[in-house]
Amino acid sequence: MSRSPRSCSRILTTCSWLILGLTIASCQSERSSGPGSDSVASPGSGSDSGSNYDSDYGPDPRDLEFMQVSDEIHVAFRPVPLRYWVEGNVTIILNEQDVVVVEGSGTDRSAEQVIGYIRTLTENPVSVLINTHGHGDHTVGNSVYRREFPGLEIIARPETRDYLTGSGIGYVKDLAQSTESRKARGHEEIARLEREQPPGYEAVVANLRQYYDRDIDIRQVAYAMAEIVPPTMTIDRRLVLHREHRTIDIRYLGPGDTNGDLVVFLPEDRMVATGDMVVHKFPYGYSRYPLEWIETLDTLAMLDFDVLIPGHGEVQQGKAYLSDVRRLLRYVQDEVKLAIDRGLDIEATMAAIDLSTFKDQFAGNDPVVRYYFDEYFAAPHVRRTYAALEARRVE
Ligand SMILES: [Zn+2]
Repeated sequence: MSRSPRSCSRILTTCSWLILGLTIASCQSERSSGPGSDSVASPGSGSDSGSNYDSDYGPDPRDLEFMQVSDEIHVAFRPVPLRYWVEGNVTIILNEQDVVVVEGSGTDRSAEQVIGYIRTLTENPVSVLINTHGHGDHTVGNSVYRREFPGLEIIARPETRDYLTGSGIGYVKDLAQSTESRKARGHEEIARLEREQPPGYEAVVANLRQYYDRDIDIRQVAYAMAEIVPPTMTIDRRLVLHREHRTIDIRYLGPGDTNGDLVVFLPEDRMVATGDMVVHKFPYGYSRYPLEWIETLDTLAMLDFDVLIPGHGEVQQGKAYLSDVRRLLRYVQDEVKLAIDRGLDIEATMAAIDLSTFKDQFAGNDPVVRYYFDEYFAAPHVRRTYAALEARRVE
């Protein structure tokens, strides 16, 4: 099932950028809310404010599931994380007198489900909501929390507040206006896959059709209704919340997926919620700070934890997955550096770098995961690493 370096690089160059715009938007996400939005729903039901719902394409993309990580720590997650229009994990921290939530969800409906779930666990209010970064799949649901919990503080880095009060989050409205052109580009990619028939392409086509034939319409409605609510409190390097028997240590360790990434470290619980600087099953490759990102992950690895709650994907026991990610990013950086030293341009660099061993390690034999390893990680990350190293040489 492993692709040759040549076919891998061909995929990187031919199809990655068709989808990149959507991918970034997915990674940055959506929400619907505000006037006309629905009331809090019970877990698993949710308000169906979206239109064009067709269950032939599987569950509503905004529907979440929940897992209990320990007595007082729960995680909300979207099953099948590698559907277009990704949805950030949410960490729920139950304290004696309040609830602290990490990530605001990507739509009203998903935020409503998280709040509905919390209300099955406790009568305590959510007093603090932490946005690890600004992307919409972690923040579009902020307004639901603001509406439901008067006095709520929404905590983030200043960069995240700038992003949510400036043009950064503008793609939410842009996406609502450009559904048809995006559908056309998506169907071109589906046609390419059906024409070229790479191994396992049927599963990839089914995955893409779920988005372009159904989910994109739900997203369009959600985005059109979106009300962006920025953080109410920004922090520099560290803010520590003290609860009865828990410390909630909110840290800025350096740039990761964005320049404003926070991590939330729970020393007594021996857990950390990382936002998108760590994503499972493979990292998202869109960071504009690819060199600093590695250093930030090195610092993260020094924290004393047993459980890592990533921005997307499965909760990780121990530090093995984090080590795998650090190794992958370092390999890319070393290889790109060598290519630049040899005088290769970006296209030649992308063709020269062989990530097949890592692709096997991270994606296994699943054709959908392998496809997105190329699309979400390899193509953007090699390009951004190349640009960052070139910029550093110029300096
Ligand atoms: Zn995300």
